[in-house]
Amino acid sequence: MSNSMVAKHAKWPAKADAIFAIAGKAQEAIKQHGKENVTNSTLGALMDDEGKLIAFDSVFGVLKDMPNEEISAYAPIAGMPQYLEAVEETFFAGYKPDAHIRTVATPGGTGAIKIAMWNYTEEGDEILTSDWYWSPYKTISEEAGREISTFKLFTEDGNFNTEDFKKRFKEILAKQDRLMTILNTPAQNPTGYSISDEEWDEILAFLKEEAKNPDKKIVLLVDTAYIDFAGQDNERRAFFTKLSDLPDNMFVMAAFSTSKGYTMYGLRLGAIIGWSGNQEIADEFRVAALHSGRANWSNGNRGGMNVVSEIYNNKDLFDKYTVEKNEWKGILRRRAEAFVEAAGKVDLEILPYRDGFFVSLPCNKPYEISDALTQKNIFMVPLAKGVRFAVCAVSEEKCRKAPAIIKEVMDQFK
Ligand code: PLP
Repeated sequence: MSNSMVAKHAKWPAKADAIFAIAGKAQEAIKQHGKENVTNSTLGALMDDEGKLIAFDSVFGVLKDMPNEEISAYAPIAGMPQYLEAVEETFFAGYKPDAHIRTVATPGGTGAIKIAMWNYTEEGDEILTSDWYWSPYKTISEEAGREISTFKLFTEDGNFNTEDFKKRFKEILAKQDRLMTILNTPAQNPTGYSISDEEWDEILAFLKEEAKNPDKKIVLLVDTAYIDFAGQDNERRAFFTKLSDLPDNMFVMAAFSTSKGYTMYGLRLGAIIGWSGNQEIADEFRVAALHSGRANWSNGNRGGMNVVSEIYNNKDLFDKYTVEKNEWKGILRRRAEAFVEAAGKVDLEILPYRDGFFVSLPCNKPYEISDALTQKNIFMVPLAKGVRFAVCAVSEEKCRKAPAIIKEVMDQFK
């Protein structure tokens, strides 16, 4: 007799989450050797130099001052109107595309990705993303009966590999009526890469060219989870205006998250923002997103939505929040610069880093290397094609020291 009760589509291999498993080992090492002797670069969250999670006072002060019923009540399925307005204004920050824009609240960027994949791909479709990618894309797609296919993110000289992107896109589009591509930028997880404005020009010219075939539907999902920690001021948002004047068979969405930008990771709040040159297509998106919301989680976190809209509408709060966020953006940049500089000094190969929480190192034996590094009390996440160092979670001093040790260990596997 079978020992399985789950339905066929729900049968998955039991495997521990690699990130949480290695993070658990780092905690054990901290207990044993003391936190000053352990470099825990596993979790993708901002930590202070002592390894304590950063939760912005300017955000949680607003939440704690809120009447209980404003936290406790349901929000509308679409999200609180003032939240949706705050999201659109702060997200585009002066770089709004010329299009019909609709926004629906979701539980985190994850919820937004789920809505996009479910509603804009057909069962069995391939979804195109880069070969370095956030692994939940695969989890979300396979649960829905879709599949992730990849293109090479980098050229030999460390730029966006437009040629391979085009090649893979064309190959898949020849087999399907529609194709969704996910670009996680700026500050990609796990590489820290940000697509430049010039690279965007090339990508968009290509997508618009493909859209000239009226029988094909082109869907672009930009995953912007780390946008608040990228570039100077709002420069990394400038590409949004390029996503204007879209042909009707090209639809663009952005997965917005409050996890990093507001340090509201556990409150689970984000939004899916969709836009089209055609009003009916934008309205259709909203209806589909609302249906998915109702079917999956009903509605998002009302307290979190109130925090975002209060900060947006109160100049003092907004200034306080901006100062706090920028302070951490600066700390993050200094940590990353320390790591990149120290890697350069010892000839440690890293992928091109531009912004954000992570630096990645390509290698052939990621699991073995991650394991060997634990012997040196450095904890890094193994990925399919390398290992990831979370500069967001490690002090500048440790970021400066780690590359020499990593290099020594990696060389043993050559
Ligand atoms: N996209 C990427 C690349 C991420 O790394 C994350 C979180 O780690 C998310 C999206 C979604 O985060 P959340 O669901 O917490 O908003």
